[in-house]
Amino acid sequence: MKPLSHDVDAVMIDLDGVVYEGDALIEGAEAAVRALRAQGLKLLFLTNNSARNAREIAEKLGRLGLAASPAEVLSTCDFAPVALRDAGLGLREGVFVVGSPSLRAGLDAAGLRRCEGPEAELVLVAMDTTFCYQTLDAALQPLRRGAHLWACNLDGAFPAGPGRWAPGCGALVGALTAASGRAVDRVLGKPSPAYGEAALARLAVPPHRAVMLGDTWAADIVMAQSLGITPVLIGPRSAHPEVASSPSLAHWVSSQLR
Ligand SMILES: [Mg+2]
Repeated sequence: MKPLSHDVDAVMIDLDGVVYEGDALIEGAEAAVRALRAQGLKLLFLTNNSARNAREIAEKLGRLGLAASPAEVLSTCDFAPVALRDAGLGLREGVFVVGSPSLRAGLDAAGLRRCEGPEAELVLVAMDTTFCYQTLDAALQPLRRGAHLWACNLDGAFPAGPGRWAPGCGALVGALTAASGRAVDRVLGKPSPAYGEAALARLAVPPHRAVMLGDTWAADIVMAQSLGITPVLIGPRSAHPEVASSPSLAHWVSSQLR
């Protein structure tokens, strides 16, 4: 088999369920990433995480023993301000944010207006571990008045530790769509092609020279397929039945570089 680096220039790697589960690295992940680096491949950790920015995620990876720079990480927390500015939203009445302090800080740094009143022009839903009935009530008001509804992702749950899953951003989106009777106008993270295009731009490679490694068919694989990026389903930790026979990151990398 040809070395992987002859066919591709860049590898996009999902994090939750591929590199780590909660605060534990998945066995072999660090060595696998090191092996990809040794091939001279460009790496981007592409995550739907909406609570943490690239710097925070790179720090977490470092704490877990996997060295990565913030420039090698793209999260929906980082992408949301870019997408809002590109769409010309969040500049007038402001954005109602259901999300983390890091997301709010990112919007502020990008010069976007935030608004917690019913006059908000857009409701942005991200991971918010303080989400409660009062949040739902307040976010419902702008939606009733016609505000746009954007979601950082629709992931209902994510692996939070060995054998444990935690409710994700999609669960909060579900509460808001149920309350408002509205559909989501835009999903920012995977499987959105715009997110994959942002990743390709960061890596400065064309889609046919990139691989996407992920454990969620509806997010990672669908996005890659829509752009012509080679998708690789990583398993078997995901609950998705189709991944029961898929390799771990470590097994896939070793099979490619053998
Ligand atoms: Mg995942």
